Amino acid sequence: MAYRTSAGGQYGCPRCLRNLTSYLVGGFEVDACLTCGGLFIDNAASQELVRAFDRELVVLATTLGFGKGEALGPGVVLRNLSCPRCSAGLHPVTLPSAAVEIDVCAYDGTWFDANELPKVARAYRRAREGRPTDMAKDTLGEIFEGRFRG
Ligand SMILES: [Zn+2]
Ligand SMILES: [Zn+2]
Repeated sequence: MAYRTSAGGQYGCPRCLRNLTSYLVGGFEVDACLTCGGLFIDNAASQELVRAFDRELVVLATTLGFGKGEALGPGVVLRNLSCPRCSAGLHPVTLPSAAVEIDVCAYDGTWFDANELPKVARAYRRAREGRPTDMAKDTLGEIFEGRFRG
């Protein structure tokens, strides 16, 4: 169960600029956009994530993303997203096996657009299970452990 800890929080969605809503999931706080279905996960939480893709988090991300992310509406930011915490530019990072491009602030955390996190979780699970995959266990490792290591 994910608990909503605030509505209309202090941070703005990098994608659609609405206020993010904070949720407490698996012991850490994530900032979710109820409008576009994206999620911002801070670096501490991301490091936790790499140990075990939190089922509640994946459920939350899946729920938020339901029906979203196919067609971006007007007013959304298409490129050069800004970090919701520090406003610096987010760096796009491609995860080939998950077929997604996530957006990373080295200082604060990672933005997942709608439905990206469940895809990354699936790719990560495949890699962990040792099945042949086009990727890059190492990619996730690098991303979640290297880049996020403060
Ligand atoms: Zn949004
Ligand atoms: Zn930042």
